[in-house]
Amino acid sequence: MKNIIVIIICFFLNISFAQKDDWKTKYEQKWENYDNGTKLSVTNNNLLSITYKIDYNPVNLKASIPNGTYVVIPGKTKDFLIVDFTKIDSKKGWKFNKGNTLVYLGDITDTDYDEDYVYDLPFEKGTSFKVAQGYNGDISHQDKFALDFDMPVGTKVFACREGLVVEVVRNNTKNCGKPSCADYNNLIKILHSDGTIMQYLHFRKNGVRVKVGQTVEKGQHIGFSGNVGWSTGPHLHIDLYLTDKENNYKTLKTSFKTDENDITKELKHKVTYTKSY
Ligand SMILES: [Zn+2]
Repeated sequence: MKNIIVIIICFFLNISFAQKDDWKTKYEQKWENYDNGTKLSVTNNNLLSITYKIDYNPVNLKASIPNGTYVVIPGKTKDFLIVDFTKIDSKKGWKFNKGNTLVYLGDITDTDYDEDYVYDLPFEKGTSFKVAQGYNGDISHQDKFALDFDMPVGTKVFACREGLVVEVVRNNTKNCGKPSCADYNNLIKILHSDGTIMQYLHFRKNGVRVKVGQTVEKGQHIGFSGNVGWSTGPHLHIDLYLTDKENNYKTLKTSFKTDENDITKELKHKVTYTKSY
């Protein structure tokens, strides 16, 4: 009986780990030795690209690419060759020490994006909401270009830009004012054609209306707002970001269409915006 309990506990621990660190469970590394050396290939089962920074110290082996190279593996790709090590002196043995190999979600080598893109406001036509916290806000947006809109639980949320849904979390209920509660954010992440990702946070339990792998249109209803995760009052948080080599998560400024003919470069703290289109 004791063994069964241990097995069941382990099973649940594995499940919770997989949910928390989802994308890392979706790639596999494969080393293949052959007569003249060894090679590494990676299968990426994520929808998003991953970037692999190689760092090995080979002895009697010549690498096909220099140490420190960033290799991008497209999403949904099987057995992508990362590096091939061939013997230098065929009469001697070979070995290598693994250094600080890093793997990132996304293509971190491409930091160009469409800076002039104009986003739609994330709520319904004819409604108005106040920016409760803007860029670099002192509650939770320090050094971030993020926006919080005050809105009652259950308000319809709309996609600011068309793209591919790459991550959703929908079942959480807990909330608090500490960063640790970010682990409980219900969320949607949408990948855009220029490689940027917009994340929408704090949906109510089961308020997410899209699935991973689904393509959404600009202005499509994607969910119902809530107060779940790192949140102390009903609101919608959005931010646009790219992953980069320095800090692995870099938020970007976004322009919004604030009226039929108006573009606002930066939505401001405490200002109420109406979506008239
Ligand atoms: Zn926020």
